[in-house]
Amino acid sequence: MRIHHLNTGTMCPIGRRLVNGTGSIFQRARMVCHCLLAETNDGLALVDTGIGLDDIKSPMRLGRKWVRQCKPRLDPAETAVQQVTALGFSPDDVRHVLLTHLDRDHAGGVPDFPKAKVHVHRTEYDMAVAGRIVPPEGRYIAGQWQHGPDWSFYGEGGEDWFGFAGVRALGDREADVLMIPLPGHTLGHCGIAVRGRDKWVLHAGDAYFFHGELEPVPRMPFVLGMFQRRGDMDRKRRRGNLARLRALKAAHGAEVEIVNSHDPVEYDRCACGRH
Ligand SMILES: [Zn+2]
Repeated sequence: MRIHHLNTGTMCPIGRRLVNGTGSIFQRARMVCHCLLAETNDGLALVDTGIGLDDIKSPMRLGRKWVRQCKPRLDPAETAVQQVTALGFSPDDVRHVLLTHLDRDHAGGVPDFPKAKVHVHRTEYDMAVAGRIVPPEGRYIAGQWQHGPDWSFYGEGGEDWFGFAGVRALGDREADVLMIPLPGHTLGHCGIAVRGRDKWVLHAGDAYFFHGELEPVPRMPFVLGMFQRRGDMDRKRRRGNLARLRALKAAHGAEVEIVNSHDPVEYDRCACGRH
């Protein structure tokens, strides 16, 4: 299927060299919110939603400290809903929103697609929305789902996908969109695999932050590594899944393009729209 790569929220924290691994320490870094818009057999499916219009209207709901550190650009033209419209679609054409997890820079655009079914791992919902598992203080922004989305839940199990377990999210009409649990960053964190025209794309969310982490000799800029560790809910499982992703890339890199949410290098590589 056709896959569009959207950046739904540029962030510009200080210390480019220590965040992006290039440039000067005195420049601002660039991070993106990499989302996928897939033209499926069951309408449009959006993988993650980045920053939404309501966040831009009241940025302080994102958290004063988060806004100060991440320096989001907060440009309405970057929101998924405005990019969907700019591509010539209606927001109502987006029938499915699939979320890697419910952190603020992934779920912000959920209210911009009130008619879509919102797919999420049950553990993530239990923690972020229902409070059945107590989340870390201030981690989630309840306003991003106060409109009451039409949720759809996932657990473990599913069919084999390159050694990972994936559940078909869109049912029988569209077999090639899979939710793949990759816990660690959060407890219900998932990757989402979508079959493109010439290869699969695995959106790995925040399972890793930097393209160099998937190389045989992993690399990670210092401050980005700090961001990553600070976000960990289960470091051991996050590291285990990172090792699995590295092995997936080594064995099947020709068939699967793996991307994470915030890496501008991976985003720029994909944004030419060749998948
Ligand atoms: Zn994130």
